Amino acid sequence: MFGDAIYEVIPVYSRRAFRLPEHLARLEASLQAIRIDNPHDSAQWSSLIGKIIERNPWEDQSVYLQVTRGVAPREHQFPEGLTPTVFVMANSLVTPSKAQIDRGGSAIVLADFRWLHCEVKSVSLLGNCWLRTLAADRGCTEAILVRDGFLTEASSSNVFIVKDGVVVTPPKSNLMLPGITYDVVLEILRANAMAHEVRPVSEAELRAADEVWITSSSKEVFPITTLDTRPVGHGENAGKPGPVFARAYAHYQVFKATVMRSPAHV
Ligand code: PLP
Repeated sequence: MFGDAIYEVIPVYSRRAFRLPEHLARLEASLQAIRIDNPHDSAQWSSLIGKIIERNPWEDQSVYLQVTRGVAPREHQFPEGLTPTVFVMANSLVTPSKAQIDRGGSAIVLADFRWLHCEVKSVSLLGNCWLRTLAADRGCTEAILVRDGFLTEASSSNVFIVKDGVVVTPPKSNLMLPGITYDVVLEILRANAMAHEVRPVSEAELRAADEVWITSSSKEVFPITTLDTRPVGHGENAGKPGPVFARAYAHYQVFKATVMRSPAHV
């Protein structure tokens, strides 16, 4: 009734959960923030998620889990001593096709009117859904959000820009979800000596960027080629995925394949 719950979406490639420890750590942090006791330890979550993967037909899946506070009379103060309710399901994971990547996505820039605890992965997504719908009203696939003149994130993804060959993304804070894919992309940039900075990004920099990317577990790393109806970038690359994106995307696919071959994952 209060949207009093935490969720995770975990991508599964070739029946192996990708970055599971990181997703479980973020789940724990979000549960702690709103004082829900984690009903399972990592081994139990891992086994539960493994069973869901096994019982579904797809090789690549998107596992959705949510933990709600539990059953209690309607009362605003968090009730104590409840048994949390756990719900887990899987869908087929469909990552963007080559044609979608070549075309890129369209986004509009909107004022981020959400609350000040966007780092908590709460199921209370009314603000995010509202913003995404405003984007769809204008024929756009994503809403990129700014607060007080600075980029925060998008309605269901994190945002990176590229200017003069340097990739820039905002630092983690209470104003954005600490994306698991955001961390993967930063690791890839570091590992491949690709120039990057983690620092506040102004709205002006966003609008003047050579490239704009979004990242999420289902979109992986994806180019935004139209921003507020104008092509992103300049010259011959205007309105097309840029060369830095192409490098990052290729590294992401290699990274994914390497990790999925290692035995350390479910
Ligand atoms: N920001 C928001 C608001 C999101 O809803 C999501 C994912 O759903 C992300 C960022 C990206 O997070 P992740 O990379 O962990 O999927």
